[in-house]
Amino acid sequence: MGTAERKNFHRQTPIGNRKIAGLYIHIPFCRTKCPYCTFYSETNLSFISDYLKALFQEMEMARDQFNQLETVYIGGGTPSVLLPHQIQAILERIRQNFQLVPDAEITLEANPADLSLAYLQSLRPSGVNRLNVGFQSFDSQILKFLGRRHSLDQAISSIITSREAGFDNLGMDLIYGVPGQEMESWLATLARAVNFAPEHISCYQLTVEAGTPFASRQQKGECTLPPEDLQYNFFMKTSARLEEAGYIHYEVSNFARGMEYASRHNQKYWNHTPYLGLGPSAHSFRGNRRWWNHRLLDHYIADLSTGNAPIQSDETLTREQLGFEAFFLALRTKLGLHLKDFSEEYQQDLLATKGPMLADLSDAGYIVIQDGMLLPTRSGLAIADRLALI
Ligand code: SF4
Repeated sequence: MGTAERKNFHRQTPIGNRKIAGLYIHIPFCRTKCPYCTFYSETNLSFISDYLKALFQEMEMARDQFNQLETVYIGGGTPSVLLPHQIQAILERIRQNFQLVPDAEITLEANPADLSLAYLQSLRPSGVNRLNVGFQSFDSQILKFLGRRHSLDQAISSIITSREAGFDNLGMDLIYGVPGQEMESWLATLARAVNFAPEHISCYQLTVEAGTPFASRQQKGECTLPPEDLQYNFFMKTSARLEEAGYIHYEVSNFARGMEYASRHNQKYWNHTPYLGLGPSAHSFRGNRRWWNHRLLDHYIADLSTGNAPIQSDETLTREQLGFEAFFLALRTKLGLHLKDFSEEYQQDLLATKGPMLADLSDAGYIVIQDGMLLPTRSGLAIADRLALI
């Protein structure tokens, strides 16, 4: 896509509607915990019915603040530990409390081990129309290292059953940069993923977060992440291979087989569209305010059982802070930033305030400024987190 085309695309064909909110529901349950994960979840599934009761109460409390929704993203945790009738009940309650647009994107995160044909066929009537499945790798050794509960056979079988059950919008989550991983092993996983022709692929670089079992193994010297230059090469080759295969690299970690398959829900996080988050640890945003729920399930249930909103805290952002976030987030997406729109919305002329820095980034090949657009290049996307701190 050329710069001029991209400029028009950016202004006329936004992914999703910026005026209509998205809904995120956090399902705080997993059958087992992966040693690298920092998302909040419990492995005691006997609390599911208490959680659902609390969730439905929270929906009723939030219904007047967010009446129309364009996307629903049921994430976690592992939402596919819920039975199809429980997912159906969640979606029925959403429809009772909010107005879902007719072509709403409704995503369910899932583990391949849960996706039997019977499960998927029972799920279809709920209205879920997009599956985002945590495959992570097509290499058995790496699946084992990552502590995943699914096998390679289950991964492959879940793709076949998803298609058989009629799911025509399938997203694959993959992880690269695992300790000891060679480039060939990663490219083989990527090639296998492409062979299954998913509509969406997310490729995440493994990070070791404080407090996780991986962090203590790293401290003991039992595992080491690949060096920075190899991580950079993983990123650049991933982008090149997937673009050669026809995918659009539309955000640092995300690739779509056509922009109609780009995540409409995630786009809302990246362009300051309002979103409501329900469930433990979920975050919400509207206007200039962000708020978030208590992280622990028992705290969440206790609050709602006494009629209180389970909100832990909130923050109000200044126009300058919102502008900084918008700049930071735009550097992570292929659509980049329209300088005039940015200046009108945030009262900041980036060329005047950050001119020399932007010129340096442009000279170094990290961004392109052309026809009123600021666009990250592939190598700019590779260092997007650092770019925003400059
Ligand atoms: S299944 Fe997902 S949410 Fe659960 S522990 Fe593993 S990575 Fe975290």
